[in-house]
Amino acid sequence: MSAKVWIVVQHREGHLHRMSREAIAGGQQLASLLGGTAEAVVLGHGVGPVAEELGGYDLAAVHVADAEALADYTPGGYVGVLAAALKDHAPTHVVLAHSYQNIEYMARLAQAVGGSLLPEATGFETDEEGVVWRRPVLGGKLQARVRAVGPAPLLVSFQSGVFGGSDAATGNAPRVELDASAAAPDREILGVEEVAGEHVDLSAAEIVVAVGRGIGDGDKLKIIEALAESLGAEIGASRPVIDNGWLPRDRQIGSSGQTIAPKLYIAIGISGAIQHLVGMKGASTVVAVNKDAEAPIFGVADYGIVGDLHEIVPALTEAIREAKAAAG
Ligand SMILES: Cc1cc2nc3c(=O)[nH]c(=O)nc-3n(C[C@H](O)[C@H](O)[C@H](O)COP(=O)(O)OP(=O)(O)OC[C@H]3O[C@@H](n4cnc5c(N)ncnc54)[C@H](O)[C@@H]3O)c2cc1C
Repeated sequence: MSAKVWIVVQHREGHLHRMSREAIAGGQQLASLLGGTAEAVVLGHGVGPVAEELGGYDLAAVHVADAEALADYTPGGYVGVLAAALKDHAPTHVVLAHSYQNIEYMARLAQAVGGSLLPEATGFETDEEGVVWRRPVLGGKLQARVRAVGPAPLLVSFQSGVFGGSDAATGNAPRVELDASAAAPDREILGVEEVAGEHVDLSAAEIVVAVGRGIGDGDKLKIIEALAESLGAEIGASRPVIDNGWLPRDRQIGSSGQTIAPKLYIAIGISGAIQHLVGMKGASTVVAVNKDAEAPIFGVADYGIVGDLHEIVPALTEAIREAKAAAG
């Protein structure tokens, strides 16, 4: 049986989600590795512009379920339509971005169609027996190599940053209507609010000083601010710093935050979990400060400093100021 890879995309206000472009690139590569076809699926109401954008990719079809019941995303709406469509069209693989929205319903969808589930994949290859997937385990401390042995279809979500959205191959894909009558919304969306605050675009920064839970407390951030100022850098953070309310959410780097590619990235008190690394792996030079010599961040660092950040960061700031003063 030849592979048929369905890529279910996520969108908002007429725009494809960044991670969905990455999923398209991943789905295309999977289909090409398996000698099969890649097809996109979009659900919603008034999704013409998104369907049109999808039509510009190298896909065998763009399946469109357009109905009022799908105007807002709900797990019941999506699972109803997708379960019926998967039974009708029998794709071998269903590819999604590992986003909050998708991981909420994909287990329920796998269960509804009697398929298999492989969340948070970070890559794949083939051997003589078939596809071998990679996915993080133990909070990203280890990468497991996994073979999916359950029934088709296999629902896979790709971790953010594994594929480049701009690597998705372009082409001309025909639109195919999908029956949306099985949509059964199980929530009433009363409103969606933007998270307040000025948005910082860290992706434009050449130097980023990123702080992690190792800082200990929000009132200790002054040493980080001083270092960033001495370098003319933006401040970024790992997720616990944001969850603790020490910095606003738009400073978060990683799979559920921003993806950045600065010339210099300084990770301070950050362990280096996979969800963080996918957001900064495009950095040209990585410097890490951590008191634990075994911290995974040292695995991706070009320069590592093992020690207490409360001593090292002020010393680093001082040295940078002196060097700048000497250079005039
Ligand atoms: C679905 C999902 C999405 C996620 N998305 C993201 C994301 O977008 N971004 C993200 O960052 N995380 C994300 N995470 C969380 C991620 O798994 C890690 O928990 C997180 O990155 C850890 O942050 P940290 O390195 O700051 O903290 P820890 O893992 O607690 O590491 C703290 C580090 O500080 C060091 N340290 C402590 N004290 C000192 C000191 N005095 N001096 C020097 N070093 C010190 C320690 O040795 C340790 O290595 C996500 C998790 C999930 C499940």
